[in-house]
Amino acid sequence: MPDSRLQQVTILGATGSIGVSTLDVIGRHPERYAVFALTACRQVDRMVEQCCRFGPRYAVMADADAAVQLRARLREAGCATEVLSGAAALAEVAADAEVDAVMAAIVGAAGLEPTLAAARAGKKILLANKEALVLSGRLFMDAVEASGACLLPIDSEHNAIFQSLPASYRRNPVASGVRRILLTASGGPFRKSAVEDLEYVTPDQACAHPNWVMGRKISVDSATMMNKGLEVIEAHWLFGAAADRIEVVIHPQSVIHSMVDYLDGSVIAQLGNPDMRTPIAHALAWPERIDSGVAALDLVEISQLTFERPDFDRFPCLALAYQALREGGAAPAVLSAANEEAVAAFLDGKLGYRRIGDVISATLERVGMMAVDSLEAVLAADANAREIARDQITKRAITR
Ligand code: NAD
Ligand code: MG
Repeated sequence: MPDSRLQQVTILGATGSIGVSTLDVIGRHPERYAVFALTACRQVDRMVEQCCRFGPRYAVMADADAAVQLRARLREAGCATEVLSGAAALAEVAADAEVDAVMAAIVGAAGLEPTLAAARAGKKILLANKEALVLSGRLFMDAVEASGACLLPIDSEHNAIFQSLPASYRRNPVASGVRRILLTASGGPFRKSAVEDLEYVTPDQACAHPNWVMGRKISVDSATMMNKGLEVIEAHWLFGAAADRIEVVIHPQSVIHSMVDYLDGSVIAQLGNPDMRTPIAHALAWPERIDSGVAALDLVEISQLTFERPDFDRFPCLALAYQALREGGAAPAVLSAANEEAVAAFLDGKLGYRRIGDVISATLERVGMMAVDSLEAVLAADANAREIARDQITKRAITR
C-alpha cells in the first residue's frame, strides 16, 4: 500500500530541464512526495538514473524502441519500475486514481493529451507546458472547471502573477480591481543586436540565454520572443485577461518575474533568482512553503533593475502572438503549431533564424477559420497548420 501521507506525483517530461528541476525539489522532501510515474520521449540514460534514484511505479517512454531499451537496462540494474510506452500510457499515468499531482513538462503539442487527461481526472496540475494551453485554451480551462482540478502555473511569470493576485481571484480582472498584468521578459540573447545581424544566427547562439538554462525549443522561443507571445496567450487563459490588459515589459535581469497593476496604483510583484525550482516548489507545496534549494536573493549584489519597452519590429513573433490572441478561434493553435515546425527546422539547420517569423505569419494568413471546441478539432487545426508551415519552410529553406 502506498504511504497516504505522501503526495504521489507524476512527472510528464521528467528528463527535460523542468523535469530535472522538479526531481531536485522532490528529492529534498522525501517526507512529502513520492514519484508515481516518470515519462520521457527517448532519453534512456537519464531515465535509468532517475528510476534508480526515485523508484517510481511506472516509467513511460513515448518511443517504443526506447521503452524496450529502458526495460532491459532497469532489469539489469535491479530496478522494479514497470516500463510502458506510447501516448495512451502517458495519459494513463497522468490520470491514475493514485496520483495526486501531475507536473506537465513535456515540450510542445505532444503534451496536450496527457495534460488534458490530468485535467479531466481532477488532478492538481503543475502546468509548465504552455503550448498545450495555447493550443486548447478554452477546452483545457473548461475541463479544469468541470472536474474541479487545481491548476497551478509553473511558468515563472504566471507563477509570479498567481502569487501577486488575491487568493480569491477567479479569472476576472475587473472584479478584483486589476488594471493590467505586467509580464516581464528578459529580451533574450539578441535584445541589443542589429536586426540585420540576426540573418546568420546559429542554433547555439540562439540557445545561449543570458539568465535561464532551458530546453532548446523554449530557448529559441525566448530569443525570438515567441516565448513571451505564448505567455501572453497563456496569461489570457489562466487569468481571464483580455489582450489589452496584458503588457510585456523587458527586464533584462530576470529578477522581477512579473507584476500585477491594481486600480488604486498598487503594483504587486514577485521577485527571486532566475531558477525554476522556486515556482516548482511553490506549486508543489501550495499553499504551504518549502525549501527549493534556491539561494536567497541578494538585491544589493544585483544593485540595478532596469526596464524597456519591447520593439515589435525587432521581435515580430511577439506581435504575431498578440494578433493571434485578438483573432481568437484556432489562430493561437495555428501560431503555436507553425512556430514548433519553424523552430524545429531552424534547430535542424534548414531554416534561417529570421525566417521563423515569416513562416508563422504566412501560415496564419493561409489557414481558414476553424472551430476548436473538441480535442479532435484542436488536433486537426494543429495538423493542418503544420502541413502549411512545412510547405512554407520548404519555400524558404536554406540551400547549400
Ligand atoms: P526540454 O526539451 O528540456 O524537455 C522536454 C521533455 O519532454 C523531455 O523529458 C522529453 O523527453 C519530453 N518530450 C519531448 N517530446 C516528447 C514527445 N513527443 N512525447 C513525450 N515526451 C516528449 O524542455 P523544458 O525546457 O523542460 O520545457 C518543458 C516545457 O516547460 C515546455 O513547454 C516549456 O515551454 C515549459 N517551460 C520551461 C521552462 C524552463 O525553464 N525550461 C520555463 C517555463 C516553461
Ligand atoms: Mg516563462
